Amino acid sequence: MEPTTDIKALSRGGIEAAFAELGQPGFRVSQVVRWLYQRGAGSFDEMTDLPAALREALAARFTLSVPEVAARQVSSDGTRKYLVRFADGVSVETVGLPAGERLTVCFSTQAGCAMGCSFCATGRGGLVRNLTPGEMVDQLVLVAADFGQRVSNAVAMGQGEPFANYDATLAGLRFMNAKDGLGVGARHLAVSTCGLLPGIRAFAREPEQFTLAVSLHSARQATRDRLMPGVRKYKVRELREALVAYAEESGRRPTIEYALVGGVNDTGEALGALVRFCAGLLCHVNLIPVNPVAGTGLARPAADAARRFRDALMRAGVEASIRVERGADIDAACGQLRQRAKG
Ligand code: SAH
Ligand code: SF4
Repeated sequence: MEPTTDIKALSRGGIEAAFAELGQPGFRVSQVVRWLYQRGAGSFDEMTDLPAALREALAARFTLSVPEVAARQVSSDGTRKYLVRFADGVSVETVGLPAGERLTVCFSTQAGCAMGCSFCATGRGGLVRNLTPGEMVDQLVLVAADFGQRVSNAVAMGQGEPFANYDATLAGLRFMNAKDGLGVGARHLAVSTCGLLPGIRAFAREPEQFTLAVSLHSARQATRDRLMPGVRKYKVRELREALVAYAEESGRRPTIEYALVGGVNDTGEALGALVRFCAGLLCHVNLIPVNPVAGTGLARPAADAARRFRDALMRAGVEASIRVERGADIDAACGQLRQRAKG
């Protein structure tokens, strides 16, 4: 029978279990992880330090796929956007952001997204499927190869909602972090969620120092419901409680993401609600003037509004900054990643 499971769909625990079943010692797991993610092996045959019998047993049990770059665009600011295609033809977008010694990858955790946020290009196409851990790690591998530079930081801020694909995302982060994987420091690995509370609670208990960002966009229930219909069932008050608990349990400070939409969440009332949300909560607010997505009817606030909003937050004692925008000329900025490349 032909194998149907790809070895890169497995977490480390999954590989360990498979190797235990094959009667293999633990150190072989590390060897195979190196082949998969450090050396980018395209077949089990290449894994020359594994016994031939093991290579055959693995090939009988698993497929081994390597995604391809189907399209690549380079921004005037050096940002590169990739259309990454997986073995079944499904594709996602990935962004590489160089800054001197640093190379940050914005990777996708799902093809598409089911959450339907009104301002987001990804949400408009619905969910195609979850990505596997290996499909997440391979996005970093492809970007590192294209830049000829190791990845220093990675953020799950591409397509998809990472906590709607929690186990695979955690397994992917662990391969990115592992010494026998990509060796990216845990603090340099961040997840952005639209606020799925079970995910936030679970993430608080993970042993690694991964970074958490939460998309709030409005601290007013009715406005948030309108902007983010997919998370309506989780109330703003409960989200705040979950973040207080997260900061206490993990000792880490979450980032609050806030895409400013003119006349919608940049008003005086909106500011007041955000200040109350942040009072007594260890957090940092990241303001992003919304990137216009055709058909949404949502627009950026007037020039200077973001700066005024930030200054007002700071005066109220809330730490805030404005995100530096990159890659907008190739539709690689926040919320602009869609299911298919144009043309
Ligand atoms: N699903 C996750 C992560 C991917 S989106 C989440 O929603 O958090 C990454 C960030 O881009 C989120 O903060 C999201 O709200 C924001 N974003 C989406 N569309 C945007 C747009 N049009 N302009 C600015 N930010 C946007
Ligand atoms: Fe999904 Fe995030 Fe886009 Fe919302 S903003 S639709 S959660 S990818």
